[in-house]
Amino acid sequence: MNLTGETLMADTKRNTWMAKLKRTFTSILPVSPKRRGRCINCGACCRLPNVCPFLKTNGDGKGYCGIYPLRPLNCRKYPRTESEHITKDTCGFHFE
Ligand code: SF4
Repeated sequence: MNLTGETLMADTKRNTWMAKLKRTFTSILPVSPKRRGRCINCGACCRLPNVCPFLKTNGDGKGYCGIYPLRPLNCRKYPRTESEHITKDTCGFHFE
């Protein structure tokens, strides 16, 4: 949930530790050239598959990373590809 009590839903069937492991290992690969948009700080990808201990919220209910300069590659690049994009309902990114 975010600060307003709204549940940020990921695609629950694909929100698994195995998917996280795959994102982690493939994060050295480039971001798809078909990605468009920008991060709008919804915080949904910081809950895949569990809530990240570094996820913080500010006064307007948006999420931010408590270790932003040091965040791992899979966080920096999410969603790297359309197939790993499981937070489409709230994410500011989309794929052509
Ligand atoms: S799901 Fe998308 S918009 Fe939300 S925090 Fe992650 S990258 Fe940003």
